[in-house]
Amino acid sequence: MLADNIFLKIANKQIPAKIIYEDDLCLAFHDINPQAPMHVLIIPRKVIATHAEISEVDRDLLGHLHLVAAKLAQQLGLQEGYRLVLNCKELAGQTVPHLHLHLLGGRAFTWPPG
Ligand code: 5GP
Repeated sequence: MLADNIFLKIANKQIPAKIIYEDDLCLAFHDINPQAPMHVLIIPRKVIATHAEISEVDRDLLGHLHLVAAKLAQQLGLQEGYRLVLNCKELAGQTVPHLHLHLLGGRAFTWPPG
């Protein structure tokens, strides 16, 4: 069972976060438990619980999240590379029921992921 949607509370400013970017469609903030020197979460304002629930109406929104991720990666100094992660459902490690991209950088990453 996924936990409460804490990201909706962050988007609604009901709980604090280190927000580094906001627009009409999405926001980005530092992960509270970073897994790399740079670890930012990019979330849509729209509640989409898991990646499995995306639909055609989300096409532009999903593209927008990627464009924001690419711009933030440049602004955050990740020119040498970064990893984008999207965990879908519990088996993949998803804990918050609100679709989000992890933007990770500042170190080398191994493959396959754990
Ligand atoms: P998931 O495991 O769902 O892919 O990723 C959820 C992420 O949200 C985790 O990396 C976790 O550290 C982060 N997280 C959970 N609660 C909070 C919070 O209250 N604030 C922030 N900034 N990050 C959180």
